[in-house]
Amino acid sequence: MRYPEPDESFRCVTSLTPTVCDLCGVRRPAQCGDEPIAAVMDAAKGQLNGGQIEKVLIFAPDAVGIHLWEKFPEQLAAVETIAPLRIPIRVVMPSVTPVCFGSMFSGALPEVHGIREYAKPVLTCETLFNVFPEAGWKTAIAAVNGCSIDTIFRKRPVTYVSTTKDADTLAFSEHLLRQPQYDFVLSYAYDYDHAGHAGGPFSADAIAAFNADLDTFQKLAALTDEVWADRNRLIVFAPDHGQHDTGNGRGGHGQDIPEDMLVYHFYAIRPARR
Ligand SMILES: [Zn+2]
Repeated sequence: MRYPEPDESFRCVTSLTPTVCDLCGVRRPAQCGDEPIAAVMDAAKGQLNGGQIEKVLIFAPDAVGIHLWEKFPEQLAAVETIAPLRIPIRVVMPSVTPVCFGSMFSGALPEVHGIREYAKPVLTCETLFNVFPEAGWKTAIAAVNGCSIDTIFRKRPVTYVSTTKDADTLAFSEHLLRQPQYDFVLSYAYDYDHAGHAGGPFSADAIAAFNADLDTFQKLAALTDEVWADRNRLIVFAPDHGQHDTGNGRGGHGQDIPEDMLVYHFYAIRPARR
């Protein structure tokens, strides 16, 4: 069997929102229809001694699907070293970026949040980017300009950093993490999806971008250990969907097939230094 079968062991991509909210003691968005991931909640209970998460970093690399990890077990091990709670996730249809990130950050299915095709309107339902600022968490989103993450979560009391390339997104994300006032940073990476579309999901350019994503995640996670050492913190690696080889030298996604639909989300709970 090449892919794990989607069964009860797979959670929906909507599971991220209630998990992050409950870990942080922040109310869930009004339209959230999913429940927290038990394995993550149990790990937090064990590691935080009844405490709550105080700082959050989410790294969201576009199109990093399960089949990539199956080809590169060493990279899988490297990410698990940072974020050992690996959760198999099934995304939503159509498996395109604005639909999937809409669900990931609202906890709502596409028919509820309203983005049901490749379109990037500002979401009108509640998302993490409503409830965290409302609870006093200073929140920032860093992403290349015009991408889904840069557009669909606008009109919230969030710091939006809109860049021209992933390397700049990394630099600005590091800058945000170094500002003590920021409590919640979402950092997005675009290059793997872009390179995969252009030359196939396993092309040399795509794999270079995949490796750059892992390098970015390692850098950001290491920085949180430095700047947030005295806080209980959550680190998440959360792609939106996968990508398949279309057979003509290109990559695509949007279909209900394992390559597009199945991803891993990785969580790390790190207690404050005492
Ligand atoms: Zn894409």
